[in-house]
Amino acid sequence: MSSDLYAVLGVPRSASTDEIRSAYKSLSLKHHPDRPTGDEAKFKQIQEAHEVLSDPRRRSMYDATGSIDERGPPMNPMAGMAAGGIPFSFMSGPFGIPEVHFNMGDMLNGMFGGGGRPKQRRAPVGPNKHHEIGIRFVDFYKGHLIKLKFNQARKCGPCGGSGAEETEPCGPCGGQGSRMMMRQIGPGMIAQTQMPCEVCGGDGKRTMKVCRGCQGKKMLEAEKQLDVHVQPGMRDGQMMTFAGQCSDSPDFDAPGDVILKLQCVEMPEDYEWKGDDLWVTTRISYKESVLGFSTTLATHPLTPGPPVVSWQGGPLLHGAVLKREGLGMPKAGGGGKGFGALYLKIVVVPPPLVPWSSEDAAKLQSVLGGAASTGLTGFPGEPLVFHA
Ligand SMILES: [Zn+2]
Ligand SMILES: [Zn+2]
Repeated sequence: MSSDLYAVLGVPRSASTDEIRSAYKSLSLKHHPDRPTGDEAKFKQIQEAHEVLSDPRRRSMYDATGSIDERGPPMNPMAGMAAGGIPFSFMSGPFGIPEVHFNMGDMLNGMFGGGGRPKQRRAPVGPNKHHEIGIRFVDFYKGHLIKLKFNQARKCGPCGGSGAEETEPCGPCGGQGSRMMMRQIGPGMIAQTQMPCEVCGGDGKRTMKVCRGCQGKKMLEAEKQLDVHVQPGMRDGQMMTFAGQCSDSPDFDAPGDVILKLQCVEMPEDYEWKGDDLWVTTRISYKESVLGFSTTLATHPLTPGPPVVSWQGGPLLHGAVLKREGLGMPKAGGGGKGFGALYLKIVVVPPPLVPWSSEDAAKLQSVLGGAASTGLTGFPGEPLVFHA
């Protein structure tokens, strides 16, 4: 390239950087090959001249030596970039300047030491909060209303959660929250990328007057009461969801759900709750196992009073199960579907190990029948140990 770079751009040797740039813009607009007035050779000259003269180091070298830097501007403006393997699309810009449109913000940040990632979009809904809540067994049976109180933060009403009573659009970004940054990244190439506005932190607004309602804190806390209706038919471990009852947060558009897990507490001793049914371990004496029994289930939650269960049938063996319909738990789903069953698991408490007297043996024989055992005198040696 032998022509005078200043002459190519039509500027004096004393031209400022701005003058060089504006001359370059108008000339490249005029001579762009896509235009009717275009001239590819001239356009390339203009690009080359601009590339040298817009770089202070290369311009001073050119001024001193009259030749351009030995590296020279690449004839293909993409060559330098393509060598780096960086993908981009290539288009004609508003002034006929080739523009490089990147969609890789991180890469640009790396190249230019740029100002961080664009601000992340807030998540629409915050996370749910899970709590366990102890519900008494009797309240599962009869139903109960529990009022749950807690502090709940809500976006300040007057300011809508902005913390400001008056705002004005951020000047540097024109209220957009982001700014389009143009960077020259090579000969005749301008990279354009969107960066978060560092002045307003991406909000696009500037606080003129702090909100009096929240003193700029954006959130207001208030005591909130949740009515937890435990209905007959609900189950141990059941979840109740209170939509949107978590605290608001500046990080989310909407708060998450409060989810309560109902956990049965204060289960009466010897009771087991299985689905709709109740199982009760019932201890009876040996005599009761033979003659029958009647007992009041004192800890059963039945209203108005505890049920009485009795057995007048034949002998009950240890481990037998008696079933009574309708004395179990309210059936799942509630709504008067009735009750499950009550199962009595019989545990026979063995009598003291005493041999029958001859009178008792005779009486039992008369009831049970069978021949009297003569000469039965027990076991020799150590007394028999009975393990229950
Ligand atoms: Zn801004
Ligand atoms: Zn406020």
